[in-house]
Amino acid sequence: MSYRLLSSNIINTEWSALLKLQNFPNSNHIPNFFLLNRVRCCSNNYNNLEMEDLDPTKLIVINDQRSLDRKISAIRNAGPSKLQKAYDFMLVWFTMSGFEFQVIADFDATLTRYWVNGLRGQSSHGLLKQGNPEYDAKRQALFEYYHPLEFSPVIPLEEKTKLMEEWWGKTHGLLIEGGLTYDAIKSSVANSNIAFRDGVVELFELLEEKDVPVLIFSAGLADIIEEVLRQKVHRYFKNIKIISNQMVFDDSGRLVSFKGKLIHSLNKNEHALDMATPLHDQTGGIDGAVADNASVKQRTNVLLLGDHTGDLGMSDGLNYENRISVGFLNDNIEKNLESYRKAFDIVYLDDRPMWGVVDLAAELCSKFDG
Ligand SMILES: [Mg+2]
Repeated sequence: MSYRLLSSNIINTEWSALLKLQNFPNSNHIPNFFLLNRVRCCSNNYNNLEMEDLDPTKLIVINDQRSLDRKISAIRNAGPSKLQKAYDFMLVWFTMSGFEFQVIADFDATLTRYWVNGLRGQSSHGLLKQGNPEYDAKRQALFEYYHPLEFSPVIPLEEKTKLMEEWWGKTHGLLIEGGLTYDAIKSSVANSNIAFRDGVVELFELLEEKDVPVLIFSAGLADIIEEVLRQKVHRYFKNIKIISNQMVFDDSGRLVSFKGKLIHSLNKNEHALDMATPLHDQTGGIDGAVADNASVKQRTNVLLLGDHTGDLGMSDGLNYENRISVGFLNDNIEKNLESYRKAFDIVYLDDRPMWGVVDLAAELCSKFDG
């Protein structure tokens, strides 16, 4: 199946709707070139599109605008009643602002860019050099063996899940056996080719200001994600928690074990919030002001960000009422567009920045007035 996303027909019929963006509270965040080149596609005319006319650097695909609008209205409208419910149950988050949604975001290639400096950006696992070339080579050999299996279309899910457990387990074992230190993590991040999408910091700042919890849910390594945030963002956010594989270091800063259940690429739906831990602050302590996990579980509307359809499972542990899902389709667009379009409410193509999500979050935080 192919698509003609930039057919003049669609641009003409959708253009006035695109300008709705100008009413978004933070539309000043959107660079003009991006604002003027956004394209919305509706499901009823979508199948006539063909790929050759697609300009993948400038596109957003919305499968069902009416459904999306309904969800946005429901979330914007949720504040007062949910706040009352919170009062009834005397939950901790009554003291929070009452904007009734939370953000659950995948890390690699969702918050971070797919392409960095003309090269494929590194993942939180991939950037790690443990200061021991023998063990780095062993982990690379595991990657070369298991990575193709992860994306094999012929291996049944159950079998693939076992393979992923095996891969992650062996990799973690090598990190311990090879004597990984926290200093090696710091220098690995400093020398890595990893970068956040433009707009991610502004998104975090907005959500912190509005007391909206953010869960970073990753099959990578929590300690590395924290270090990337420290080195690339240079500040601490009290509203961010990480659900990922957590390392345990001894007093000399050497890795001795991993905490909790292993999270790999195919079981991101099983752990939900019980594994969530707040970010450590700059001194290594944990800010006591971070709301507890129970408070997060009570938030029943979700804005989910991912770069893989499997990321949709990140909200499985929540009893949510409304979920708006945003997918970043970074590569192999023609092959994957159909499944992404069906799976996500909004799809950004070709490694787009985060500005559209900043505007969406601002809209969700804005007072509902009709
Ligand atoms: Mg990812």
